[in-house]
Amino acid sequence: MKYYITTPIYYINDKPHIGHAYATFVADTFARYHRLKGADVFFLTGTDENSTKNVEAAREKGYSDIQHYLDMQSAEWQTAWKELGITNNDFIRTTEERHKQGVEQFFRLVHEKGDIYKGTYQGLYCTGCEAFLRESDLADGLCPFHKKKPELIEEQNYFFRASKYRAALLEHIEKNSDFIQPVSRRNEIVNYIKDHFEDISISREKIEWGIRLPIDDSQVIYVWFDALINYLTGIGYGWDEKLFARYWPADLHIVGKDIIKFHCALWPAMLLSAGLQLPRRVFAHGFFTIEGQKVSKSLGNAIDPVQLCAIYGIDVVRYFLLREIPLGGDGDFSELRLQDRYESELAKGLGNFTSRVLTLAEKCEATVFEAAAIPAEQEAARAVADLRYAWENGFEQCVLHESLAAIHDLIAWADRYIDKTKPWALLKEDNKTAVQTLSILLELLRQASLFLYPFMPHTAAAIRERLGLSGIAGDGVAWLQWRAERIHSVSKKENLFPPLAPKP
Ligand SMILES: [Zn+2]
Repeated sequence: MKYYITTPIYYINDKPHIGHAYATFVADTFARYHRLKGADVFFLTGTDENSTKNVEAAREKGYSDIQHYLDMQSAEWQTAWKELGITNNDFIRTTEERHKQGVEQFFRLVHEKGDIYKGTYQGLYCTGCEAFLRESDLADGLCPFHKKKPELIEEQNYFFRASKYRAALLEHIEKNSDFIQPVSRRNEIVNYIKDHFEDISISREKIEWGIRLPIDDSQVIYVWFDALINYLTGIGYGWDEKLFARYWPADLHIVGKDIIKFHCALWPAMLLSAGLQLPRRVFAHGFFTIEGQKVSKSLGNAIDPVQLCAIYGIDVVRYFLLREIPLGGDGDFSELRLQDRYESELAKGLGNFTSRVLTLAEKCEATVFEAAAIPAEQEAARAVADLRYAWENGFEQCVLHESLAAIHDLIAWADRYIDKTKPWALLKEDNKTAVQTLSILLELLRQASLFLYPFMPHTAAAIRERLGLSGIAGDGVAWLQWRAERIHSVSKKENLFPPLAPKP
């Protein structure tokens, strides 16, 4: 089983902010889940560098060597993802030679198919979107995303015969009910394809930066027709056909809701033209505000995820973002809410449960904790099996907050079991029953560490270390079975979630 997941490639005219980190954490969580389930995972992210916006940013900052500026910026993004513990398998840059080769190969195929023609284009162009807008897209004459007046452009360029694929796209969406996620977006896309999906101009005349059109080097390939192909070139298209065959089609493209149209209409039309399989699923995440306000440069309220993680820890930030904002919806980022959830759900919930169990286990004299033929053992195993189903289903259906809820339910179940059995009292009276009870609790903690791993990998490792178990690497599917690993010796160590330091 292979699993290929991508993030959008990001514009690099700025530093990564919390919104980029959110999308990348989401993809990383899926990647870790599928690795744990034993899949051959390829997780790709990268940077979109052939954009006029980047060139403008370079000039503004006084760089005459554009590529040098892009190298610096891209390195900053790669460093940020490393610091945030992102487990991408590769990082694609659209100024790389391997990408250029793939784009040229792709373009030639589409051209040979007869899907490229020359024409005159006149339209309203938003440089922020790097796209032509229709009158009906505008709000008060402005681009709704960038609040900028689009420019009226007329030029000779090359068109992709997208309209030819309209019927095939609609049929594909009809037959593959989970192609577009969340499903609430499907109608919007279907209407867009029916009413507005027309041939699209895919080259630009007066642009200096970008990949030249293989059939006319006076023109540069339109940035979307170049950028989308990163999903192919990042896994070998045009430079390693074996690698490409191993991972294509993508199992999941994670995108922002502002670019879902490109991913659910233009992109599959391009792939159909090139004779390639379509991605299995495209998921659009929502946007969020910061403390109730839109993220904007002028407000200076963009949050640096690396700094935020330095304060609270990577896992806490991952947990908060995925817990607070149901995947696909919009939400608000608030540091106070983060602190609240830290106290009430992590310190008091997971952290407290962990230290309770380990404190008791340290007190009893057992060196091996194993299964006993008692009804409680089967009851606990059944409860975990049910929760595992909910946890897995959350990933399969792209509702990760339900997977997180399954973890909370697991801990709540275990807490009730502690309250019911009172192992601290058993330790004084009946050591054998105490060991059996604690043995079940330790197994529940081990199960929790596995459920947690995709969301909070470092916390999962810290729990496993306390249980005397190895870190999670490679195929963990067998580990998910009840009692799959033997717990020998436990150590309580320091609290997983110590009280937060008061803010200076
Ligand atoms: Zn725009």
